[in-house]
Amino acid sequence: MSQDKAAGVTWRPVAAVTADIVICGLGPAGRALAHRCLACGLSVTVIDPAPDRRWSATYAAWADELPEWLDSGVRAATVQRPVAWTTRRHEVDRPYVVLDTARLWDSLDITGARVISERAIELGRHTVTSSSGTVATGARVIDARGIARSPALAEQTAYGVIVDAERGAGIEPMFMDWRPDNGADPGAPRSFLYAVPLGGGQMLLEETCLAGRPALDGIELRARLEHRLRSRGIELDGAETVERVRFPVQGGRPGRRRFGAAGGFIHPATGYSVAAALTAADAVAAGDSVWPPAARMVYALRSAGLRVLLTLPPTDIPVFFDAFFTLPTPLQRAYLSGRDDLRGTATAMNALFAALPPRLRRTVITAGLPRSPSSGPTSERGR
Ligand SMILES: Cc1cc2nc3c(=O)[nH]c(=O)nc-3n(C[C@H](O)[C@H](O)[C@H](O)COP(=O)(O)OP(=O)(O)OC[C@H]3O[C@@H](n4cnc5c(N)ncnc54)[C@H](O)[C@@H]3O)c2cc1C
Repeated sequence: MSQDKAAGVTWRPVAAVTADIVICGLGPAGRALAHRCLACGLSVTVIDPAPDRRWSATYAAWADELPEWLDSGVRAATVQRPVAWTTRRHEVDRPYVVLDTARLWDSLDITGARVISERAIELGRHTVTSSSGTVATGARVIDARGIARSPALAEQTAYGVIVDAERGAGIEPMFMDWRPDNGADPGAPRSFLYAVPLGGGQMLLEETCLAGRPALDGIELRARLEHRLRSRGIELDGAETVERVRFPVQGGRPGRRRFGAAGGFIHPATGYSVAAALTAADAVAAGDSVWPPAARMVYALRSAGLRVLLTLPPTDIPVFFDAFFTLPTPLQRAYLSGRDDLRGTATAMNALFAALPPRLRRTVITAGLPRSPSSGPTSERGR
């Protein structure tokens, strides 16, 4: 690049790249990456058909997963010791944060990026062609377009309502509540109650299917939520704001040129990805690999965890999570959040296995083994 000092303009030779990085997709991952690239002085082009569309989902994360650079104002509410009800009550000694989605979006400011409001159609190593034929070039191209839904992929689904905290006062914040008071047949696929404060005197009560292929649909989850809340003395009147969740928990592929859900950042056995993407954004902005061999092996182990969840008989799911929440907090953290912590993940899985009743261990071993390509999706992609 040269500068014509007399005219005060900057010009680029025809062959020069027009941006340091081109980011396709402005979901939480793409927007976080664009924001961090701009913060470290890179020139950024972003492509998304609806770049100004604000997110409406309720995002949450463990407090210790969030990067230091993240504006503390995006924390809407913190639960110091969230509860997990399995076959009994566990308090998790790990603060859990519900994010203010609107403030998160605002805080990931991308002023200064060149914005192309179109679909990216073709992605090359240094070029992206958009739906109108515009070609954006960059030293790097990152695919953060998320994962397209497919019946072949396990999904997470949920149906939730937002109530004022006074109405929800009888329900303590629950990371997951597997108690069987939602009216479902004991042999039917399980769902749990997710109950978190949203700040501002509001609470989200959500019946959640952690992972299913196919996952429970919204109609079933709504009926279960209404039944569960009624049995706890909360009647819904239909005027509540509703949150519907449906997204694939499989289908991403780890790699240098993909990020967020598209890049294998969704924890296949939990569905969480937002905090992991926020945390990794700086390394990706710097051009570092965020998929060292240890992270790839952790990804494979987590995918085995998803296979186990998809295979366990519904009545055993609370037993499985009972064993999980009996693990010491550092091991829980390693499995839930240690994206490249191979030793921690393997130790947590071994300890979980040892804590399971012997009759479940056999199921876990069989289910956790990788499948042949013909027996299901080959790339494993899970709140
Ligand atoms: C209601 C709800 C609640 C959730 N709660 C949590 C939670 O508490 N914690 C958590 O970690 N996760 C949660 N998730 C999951 C989380 O939303 C996803 O894992 C996350 O959004 C993935 O981020 P992403 O940026 O990689 O992809 P996406 O959010 O899927 O974003 C992809 C972006 O790419 C754009 N795009 C698509 N195709 C193209 C194209 N051809 N060209 C250009 N752009 C394109 C889309 O417009 C979109 O902006 C929740 C999901 C839902 C629906």
